[in-house]
Amino acid sequence: MRFYSTNTTQQFVTLQQAVIQGLAPDNGLYMPEQIPVFPSEFFKTLSGKTFQEIALAVAKPFVGDEIPEEQLQTIIHNTITFDAPLVEVEKNIFSLELFHGPTAAFKDFGARFMSQVLGYFAQQQKREIVILVATSGDTGSAVANGFLGVPGTRVIVLYPSGKVSDIQEKQFTTLGKNITAVEVSGTFDDCQRLVKQAFLDEELKSKFFLTSANSINIARLIPQSFYYFYAWSRLAQQNEVVFCVPSGNFGNLTAGLFAQRMGLPIQHFVAATNANDIVPQYLNTTQFSPRPSVQTINNAMDVGNPSNFARMLDLFHHDHKAMSRAITGYSFSDQETQAAMIDVFKNLNYVLDPHGAIGYLGIKKYLKQHPSATGVFLETAHPAKFPDVVESTLSTRVAIPDSLQRFLSGKKETIACSTTFADFKKVLNHI
Ligand SMILES: *Cc1c(COP(=O)(O)O)cnc(C)c1O
Repeated sequence: MRFYSTNTTQQFVTLQQAVIQGLAPDNGLYMPEQIPVFPSEFFKTLSGKTFQEIALAVAKPFVGDEIPEEQLQTIIHNTITFDAPLVEVEKNIFSLELFHGPTAAFKDFGARFMSQVLGYFAQQQKREIVILVATSGDTGSAVANGFLGVPGTRVIVLYPSGKVSDIQEKQFTTLGKNITAVEVSGTFDDCQRLVKQAFLDEELKSKFFLTSANSINIARLIPQSFYYFYAWSRLAQQNEVVFCVPSGNFGNLTAGLFAQRMGLPIQHFVAATNANDIVPQYLNTTQFSPRPSVQTINNAMDVGNPSNFARMLDLFHHDHKAMSRAITGYSFSDQETQAAMIDVFKNLNYVLDPHGAIGYLGIKKYLKQHPSATGVFLETAHPAKFPDVVESTLSTRVAIPDSLQRFLSGKKETIACSTTFADFKKVLNHI
């Protein structure tokens, strides 16, 4: 499979080049030359397959012959070491729990797959690969843990100081080894801008072999399609399946669109956001107006300029009508989110995390108008990752899973940095 940039659709690179570069040299995002389409018989066999078998089948056409099948099988095997169960929280509404991995958020899927793919390609390179990653919370922990100890790689995590939860922060600031955390006195958008700028800086590019692990990297996106197939295969009623995706940078939703293009019979998508409603606004008005992000109780979705929107536009050939037919956009306030968390806890005895709560609100709203559909919302993180919000909202304690517990005793080590690129360069030059 070859890949092109969303800014130059006439030039192609290999998977290896796309994964190592992260962002294309023209600042675009890599897209597969064609999205493979599975025959309808393939879908009839899915319910008899394991999650790993499904993942391997989905990944194979994207990887082609660039990674030997046996090696790819090992990568999948090491990525999917945990389940993604569907929990019916109420009639016709399922929570797809994507938080059973080591850092308790869905980003484990992308990060674990990507780190191994990059590790495989790194063996063929002579220089250490430096992975820059901006995080609003969960990406940093998933990526840092995915790459921890992978030979030939170094990870620099940039995060907005004071804007991630303590437990999230602990997961990427206490690891040591090949992981360095940079604490930026700004917002997530500042972090993302610094990373993007670094990729365009000739001096840094000659000094370091830079790549990115943000959701812009195609190797993060491919594995996020796996669980749409898996979830669909486990539903008893497979007609009119609607997925609601609580979104920030829209990587997760874009991976769902890939799955649909591969032939998976997903009837519709709901893109649900918090007050950072840039994409719902586009869907509802045709105006795409990125703006500085505002802080909410679902901090991993506080994104003011969603990077994967470029891929969404590309998938729909910049046709607003086509995109808005396929995706319904809703946004919800902190107040609505908390009310939903309380309601679901009191009446259905299910603890939503603040991000999944946006997903629940989105599917609930959509099903009001489409009562015959089967709704699945992505529960993107374990509620214990956000104890302040969850415990104060629900007035109950949330047990911390063992996977998270082990980070809490570590000592935080970070390098402070302002929001200026000059400062960030100084930091990089001292690493
Ligand atoms: C990253 C994240 C999101 C947003 O996912 P995108 O792919 O960026 O849209 C939602 N919830 C949680 C818990 C996250 O970590």
